[in-house]
Amino acid sequence: MNKPILQLRNIAYSYHSLSGEIPALSDISFDVKEGEFLAVVGPSGCGKTTLLSIIARLLMPEKGTIVFNNPSGALEYPKTGYMLQHDHLLEWRTVFRNVTLGLEITHQETPEKIAYAEKLLADYGLYRFKDKHPCELSGGMRQRAALIRTLVMEPDILLLDEPFSALDYQTRLSVSGDIGRIIRDTKKTAVLITHDLSEAISLSDRIIILSKRPAFVKKEVAIALSRADDTPLSSRSAPEFQEYFNLLWKELSHDVSNEK
Ligand code: ADP
Ligand code: MG
Repeated sequence: MNKPILQLRNIAYSYHSLSGEIPALSDISFDVKEGEFLAVVGPSGCGKTTLLSIIARLLMPEKGTIVFNNPSGALEYPKTGYMLQHDHLLEWRTVFRNVTLGLEITHQETPEKIAYAEKLLADYGLYRFKDKHPCELSGGMRQRAALIRTLVMEPDILLLDEPFSALDYQTRLSVSGDIGRIIRDTKKTAVLITHDLSEAISLSDRIIILSKRPAFVKKEVAIALSRADDTPLSSRSAPEFQEYFNLLWKELSHDVSNEK
């Protein structure tokens, strides 16, 4: 078993505003193992983005501890890379200059890193488009470019906050398959937030189900699908798929029906 890259223990977080306190997370504990693809599902507004912000160290937890184990053994924090619903590509820069933006900002445009950016573009079908501008790409290609921009920085953990929710259903299926494959190929540890249960089942190794706000972990479900390959279609037609779906649906619909 790989050692955990992240260990969250009893994390709590509240927002404070003039109108009072908004408790977002009440008690979150789970581990993320190196190389694992973890999905987090939960009702809208339950604190999922807050949780990712804590993992990215953009917010400090109010209570609880979070232990980071750098896979390289170094004492510094593992590097996190973020991918959001909107790709935030800069329209005036070419695809190549978008994917190398992080390198440019951090003064790391070494020949090795540039070669790595080019390799990622070639491996994932974007090399031909490297001198085009984002507006000339399809929605799926834009998301791939956004992921490559993140991967170029060689993060240890990828944090994905509903990265496919702006895409139409058809595109979403194929892009989530592509992105899942890239993450597996590059052996990245990933934490994916999604409200799409099918997407969580077909992409992840394990799913954390959060309660409604303030969130706690209601259940963890390890996913094992018998499938020919890891395309979204094979995953969705695996014999175990429906059972997982029903299980997740039951857990989540309980919270949603209680909100009415
Ligand atoms: P999710 O991503 O699950 O939809 P969030 O983590 O974005 O949920 O938000 C959890 C709760 O915290 C929501 O009720 C939201 O309104 C509240 N919230 C989020 N950000 C802030 C903020 N900056 N100030 C006050 N309340 C916030
Ligand atoms: Mg959110």
